[in-house]
Amino acid sequence: MPESRSFSFEFSAPRTVSAQEKLRRTHSRLNELSPHYFSVTYGAGGTTRDGTKQTVLELLRLGTPVVPHISFDGDAINQGKEDAVRDMLTEYQAAGVTRLVALRGDSPSGTGPSSQLTHASDLVEFIRRVSGNHFHIDVAAYPEMHPESSSVDTDLTHFKRKIDAGADSAITQYFYNADAYFRFIDACHKRGIDVPIVPGIMPLTNYKGIVRFSALCGAEIPRWIEKHLITYQHDPEQLKTFGLEVVTSMCQRLLDGGAPGLHFYTLNQALPSLGIWKALGL
Ligand code: FAD
Repeated sequence: MPESRSFSFEFSAPRTVSAQEKLRRTHSRLNELSPHYFSVTYGAGGTTRDGTKQTVLELLRLGTPVVPHISFDGDAINQGKEDAVRDMLTEYQAAGVTRLVALRGDSPSGTGPSSQLTHASDLVEFIRRVSGNHFHIDVAAYPEMHPESSSVDTDLTHFKRKIDAGADSAITQYFYNADAYFRFIDACHKRGIDVPIVPGIMPLTNYKGIVRFSALCGAEIPRWIEKHLITYQHDPEQLKTFGLEVVTSMCQRLLDGGAPGLHFYTLNQALPSLGIWKALGL
C-alpha cells in the first residue's frame, strides 16, 4: 500500500559557515530515509533571508524535495515587505519549489510587538493572489494554543482564517501530550476544518534548552517528564534513552490515532530524529 502519510524534517537556516557544513552532514544522513521533504526555517524579520534561500537552493540542487518557510519581514506599513515576498515567490517557483510553510513569524528580539501588524492569513492570501495555486501551502497550528491568544476559541477562529485563505495543510507546534493533539483535531473537525494537520515532533535531548524554548513558544512539558529530565540532566545517555522512549511512544500513539504523518524539528541534528524514526519502524 503506498504511504499516504507525510514524514518530514525541519532544518533551521544556518547563520555561519560551520553551521552550513553541519547541516550538509545532517541532511546527508537523514536523506537516506527518503522523507517526503525537508523544510528550512525563515529567521524572524528576515534575519536569515539569504541563508534560507541559499540552503533551499542547495538542497534542491541535490535533488531533495525542499519546503521553504516564508514570512513578511517588518511591519504592515512597510510596503517593501510585499515586494520582498513577491521576489522570493518568483525565485522559488523558477527553482522548482512547489510547497511552502507560510508564517507570521516573530519579531526579531528587541523590536517589540508593534512590528507585528500582519497575520499569517494575510500572507496566505497574498501568496494565492500572486502565485495562484502553484504552491501547496502549509501553516502553523497550536494544539496547546498560541501563547498570544486570549482563548482556545479565538485561536481556532484565527486558525480557520488561514485555511479559508487557501492553506492546504498544517504542521503543529510541538507538544508532549497526545491528548492535546487529538482534542485539537476534534475541535477543528467541529468547525469544518478538514485539512491534514501533521504533528510537529521535538526530540527530547536536553533539559535546560527545552525548558527555556518551551516557555517561549507555549509548549507544555508535563510534570512527570520534567521531573525525569531534571533527574537525568547530568547524565546525557540516560536522558537520551528516556527522551527517545517517551517521544517514540507518543509518536506511535499519534500515528495509531490517525495522525497524517510526523514533522520532526531536527535542530539540525540527525541522531535524535533518526532514533525515533527507526524505533517507529518507519
Ligand atoms: P498567526 O497564524 O498569524 O497567529 C499568531 C497569533 O495571532 C495567534 O495568537 C493568532 O491567534 C493571532 N491571530 C491570527 N490571525 C489573527 C487576526 N486576524 N486577528 C487577531 N489575531 C490573529 N518562526 C519563525 O520565525 N521562522 C520559522 O521558520 C518558523 N517556523 C515555524 C514552523 C511551524 C510548523 C510552527 C508551528 C511555528 C514556526 N515558527 C517560526 C514560529 C511562529 O512564527 C510563531 O509561533 C509566531 O508567533 C506565529 O506565527 P503564525 O504563522 O502561527 O501566526
